[in-house]
Amino acid sequence: MKNKLVAGKTIQEWTSRFPLINNMINDEEVFWVNPKYTVFDEAAKKINLTEDDVKDAEERLNRFSPFIMAHFPETKDKNGIIESPIVRIPNMQGAISKMFDQETLGDLILKMDSHLAIAGSIKARGGIYEVLKHTEDLALENNLITLEDDYSKLAQDEYRKFFNQYTIQVGSTGNLGLSIGIMSAKVGYKVVVHMSSDAKQWKKDLLRSKGVTVVEYASDYSEAVKEGRKLSDADPKSYFVDDENSENLFLGYSVAAGRLKKQLEDMNIVINPDNQLFVYLPCGVGGGPGGVAFGLKLIFKDNVHCFFAEPTHSPCMLLGMMTEKNEEVCVQDFGIDNITAADGLAVGRPSGFVGKTLEELLSGIYTVQDDKLHALLSTLADTEKIYLEPSACAGIPGIVELFKNESHLEYLKKNNLIDKMSNAVHIAWATGGSLVPKESMDEYYRLGLEALKNY
Ligand SMILES: *Cc1c(COP(=O)(O)O)cnc(C)c1O
Repeated sequence: MKNKLVAGKTIQEWTSRFPLINNMINDEEVFWVNPKYTVFDEAAKKINLTEDDVKDAEERLNRFSPFIMAHFPETKDKNGIIESPIVRIPNMQGAISKMFDQETLGDLILKMDSHLAIAGSIKARGGIYEVLKHTEDLALENNLITLEDDYSKLAQDEYRKFFNQYTIQVGSTGNLGLSIGIMSAKVGYKVVVHMSSDAKQWKKDLLRSKGVTVVEYASDYSEAVKEGRKLSDADPKSYFVDDENSENLFLGYSVAAGRLKKQLEDMNIVINPDNQLFVYLPCGVGGGPGGVAFGLKLIFKDNVHCFFAEPTHSPCMLLGMMTEKNEEVCVQDFGIDNITAADGLAVGRPSGFVGKTLEELLSGIYTVQDDKLHALLSTLADTEKIYLEPSACAGIPGIVELFKNESHLEYLKKNNLIDKMSNAVHIAWATGGSLVPKESMDEYYRLGLEALKNY
């Protein structure tokens, strides 16, 4: 282990250059401020994706809204737009201030992607978008539709038969598989989901009940992706959703930002230089939080500050961005085990595409212990009657982390934000939970009460 080279350096060379890695190897919680964080207008010049790409994704989702309504009647009240509510959680804010003995300035809001229609997680954004994008591409190439058509016609049997010649494949820790699997099966595709060892049994069962082929791997997420990609590439009628590199997924996620802006305005919240927005996003491979953060930066520019949250046992994006080696490093290289109760975040190797795109846009990353995730889960249930899965709780302690001590305060000081914090708006992005079966949720809750004894 000692002399092993990781992206050209020994572990010791890495830890002497970045001492924080020592804490990470010991599974301790850390808070990292991105030294490359830059003003938006400068950072944006180096990125290929633009506002037009996000707008294009938005318009595509609008075109598909009649199709979504036809297949998923539960989306009718939102006209076929899959979007989640935001809610203030003052009781939870009070509870965590007490729990961590830490004053928190500003208002804490929960973005409830946990309750997104169809897939019950943030994956209902990127995953569903990518399946629909591919569907539109195929339908246009084969002259089945024009951009002006009512896409609900694609829900008819003759079109489902057409799509049934094609296969969609994806590697997943669980939730991406659910989102891609459920939507692909509705469109008519054959679907193969390659599940990592972290994936919960109920997710596999649910997918199989919808006719999806689930292939199980004893290894972690990166292996499941690798195998899935290989099998898909060997079949010309198969399309692989590449969670590590897909721009489509990323853009699907980014659409959240414009919709959030409207939701904030409906609550009379305007983000400007005196009213800054802080957003805390649970991060696995990076596409979900990365896409949302990118969308937010396009809209709110220097008035929004995005932080990723990772489990202490799977801090892949932090390793990738800190070392600037991105997908060349994985947590296992450093002897970190990638075993966490936060199954949606159990990813050992980050997306290089996301790490590079957000290189100068991401404010920082912090890590969270599993016990704390459970404690937050049961506290949120008790204070606000909202039930999330463990992964989805990782964004909640962000508001506490920001103010925790002198080294954490560095970010606010460096950006001259200290005296603006009483007006700040903090959003914890709750990324999943509503599909979790009751028995599993009861168990999470019980673990939470157990963990709370340590606070
Ligand atoms: C997938 C997932 C995330 C993170 O998304 P990535 O694109 O993997 O970074 C966060 N929370 C939950 C519940 C998820 O399923």
